[in-house]
Amino acid sequence: MSYSWEQHERGAGGKRVQDVDCDGFATSFVAKGHKKMGGRDARDATNWSALIRDFDIEPFTYAEYEAILCRLRENGFISASLPVSDKADGKKLYLQHDVDADIESARRLAEIEVDVGFTSTFFFLVGSDFYNIFSKEAQGLFSYLVGWGYGIGLHYDASLGIPAKTQSLILEVASCTDIGLATVHQGRWARDYTEEFVKAAVIDARVEPTEHSVYRADSYGEWRHGHPLDLQVLAKSDINLCINCHPLWWNEEYESRIFLLHEFVDRKKKQVAESLAENIAALF
Ligand SMILES: [Zn+2]
Repeated sequence: MSYSWEQHERGAGGKRVQDVDCDGFATSFVAKGHKKMGGRDARDATNWSALIRDFDIEPFTYAEYEAILCRLRENGFISASLPVSDKADGKKLYLQHDVDADIESARRLAEIEVDVGFTSTFFFLVGSDFYNIFSKEAQGLFSYLVGWGYGIGLHYDASLGIPAKTQSLILEVASCTDIGLATVHQGRWARDYTEEFVKAAVIDARVEPTEHSVYRADSYGEWRHGHPLDLQVLAKSDINLCINCHPLWWNEEYESRIFLLHEFVDRKKKQVAESLAENIAALF
């Protein structure tokens, strides 16, 4: 296997970041169990806005997400819907979520946005290994999002070998809503998807940073390009601020990324076990 994710050494004070392959993850999963990480990882402190730190709110928690949105609202940002305008007229906030794995956390983020009064667009995979867009859970989320006027877009996965047009149609059937936007799941750098998206009649929701537009994403659980509450961003009077949060990295409490992955696997296993028990019960 060639893919890897960062694993952080466990134990008190362990902060060194190292790459391990999936076998490494599997080994640690078995050998070390599901213990909470003792040390924090590279996410804390660095890239963590002073505006949030003053509140003593831990990063990548739902409380932080709510605080970020409240701060932006207080700062004069109003909600806007993708795609991002190529002009800047006031302070516009574009929220988007690539739902790569965790549909439960996606729901939590949406609920926070409803509470704060911002809208957003959620991008779904049609062939995820981790959720099923026709499941009751996904159907409930679609109803919730549509009910609140949120956007639903395609998180296009080229590796499925299914044209974007077909993927878009599948998502339309599952969500009972028109799909007009798409983002690309992994490997955007490897190909130009313009033609594919034209055939599918979807607009590429990718945000290209310009002098008017700023993009902030929590890719791999870090604000790699700066925190959304970057003071320089907030100081501008005309700006399109786009924040892309991946639900998998958000939690009730601050946890290391590797812990979150373990916790996610645990949750999925429990769900499968419960569902299997329900289905098998009918046989007896
Ligand atoms: Zn993705």
